[in-house]
Amino acid sequence: MADTIFAPASGAGRAAVTVMRLSGPRSGEILRALCGRVPPPRRASLRRLRDANGEMLDHALVLFLPGPGSYTGEECAELHLHGGRAVREAVADALAALGARPAEAGEFTRRAFLNGRLDLTAAEGIADLVAAESAAQRRQALAQMEGALGRLYAGWTARLTRLLARQEALIDFPDEDLPAELARAMAVEMRALAAEIAAHLDDGRRGERVREGLFVAVSGPPNVGKSSLINRLVERDLAIVSATPGTTRDPIEARVVLGGIAMTLVDTAGLRDGADTVEAEGVRRARAWARKADIVLAVYDATAPDAGLGVETGAVVVQVGNKIDLLSPLAARPALAVSAASGEGLEALRAALVAHGRSLIEAEGPPPLTRVRHRSALSRAVAALVAAQTVEIAELRAEELRAARQAIGLVTGQVGVEGVLDAVFGEFCIGK
Ligand code: GDP
Repeated sequence: MADTIFAPASGAGRAAVTVMRLSGPRSGEILRALCGRVPPPRRASLRRLRDANGEMLDHALVLFLPGPGSYTGEECAELHLHGGRAVREAVADALAALGARPAEAGEFTRRAFLNGRLDLTAAEGIADLVAAESAAQRRQALAQMEGALGRLYAGWTARLTRLLARQEALIDFPDEDLPAELARAMAVEMRALAAEIAAHLDDGRRGERVREGLFVAVSGPPNVGKSSLINRLVERDLAIVSATPGTTRDPIEARVVLGGIAMTLVDTAGLRDGADTVEAEGVRRARAWARKADIVLAVYDATAPDAGLGVETGAVVVQVGNKIDLLSPLAARPALAVSAASGEGLEALRAALVAHGRSLIEAEGPPPLTRVRHRSALSRAVAALVAAQTVEIAELRAEELRAARQAIGLVTGQVGVEGVLDAVFGEFCIGK
């Protein structure tokens, strides 16, 4: 019999309410021990919770959620406790005394997966939804949680299964004179499927970009106002700032949500070849950031315009002329003219960042993949499908088709998943 597990499902710290969640075959029995009787299924009931000595622990809203229609598919319960630490600990102690054990990270969702309540991509969608900071991340995670990716991949798996069945028929009944038409139709289908998956892979990494946040490198020579600009951008839109410790020559990172898109702004050190080695190291790093960036804000001093970015990048490059407060009224103004000192032009800079961000992540069509895990497995599937089209021997072709199906099955969790589960559910927080 499976363990009955429990964990606070709401955040730690002081709060009005803490939701303590239970799952496992003894949930109902434990509920009865705590509050005298099991409340009617799925009906919120106010109860006094008592430990084995009869001491009252809390006055709480309790829910009994019988399987298989619960989150995990098992018998579940929820205790909506007062959110204080002492209440939480007393109830946790009482639950442990009644034979339940604390859940591990992701264990509730893992059970839901093992009970067929959701596939692995939906489980990942739940983890992403909990972690979402921006509207774009929330939308993408919700779609994935609702099965958008799972359905796409299940469709491909079904088509591969059909191909494999036909291929095996060709192996088993070589003399049956299966029509040449069948082999031709299979070749067409393999080509089509490989092209579809390849097109899905060739999505400009938009799903991964949404999930991880866009990487914006703020680059330019020393003293043009890079860090002042980042401070300006962050001061109003700040979500999370993580300043990497170290000298001013180290990149400083700030996470912001602009126009519903999560972005990490990195102040890259001066791009000039430095005289001393520390600065040279800063320059080397700046070049590495610029290569990694989705967007480069190439900042220059508008009073002393200066040619060239000085780095190679595949990113969208946005030229930003700073310090326009110092510009004489007759001087030509940069296309994107800002002043980190006065705040002028900051709205236009934000708008430009959002517009470029949108162009990188928004697209019509099927939902994008969101993880390297998906990308590598689907790449293997395409390679196997391509190989299946070139091999002459029927058995080897069947082998390649099986490999392709296996690769997609790993993404959804339909096949051989033990090794994948720890990696997927390790990302979760306790109580999910
Ligand atoms: P970084 O080396 O590119 O990060 O440049 P900083 O942000 O450290 O700025 C260098 C100097 O320029 C500082 O003294 C800032 O106060 C000043 N500065 C930055 N932006 C502006 C601006 O828009 N106008 C004026 N007048 N000074 C600025």
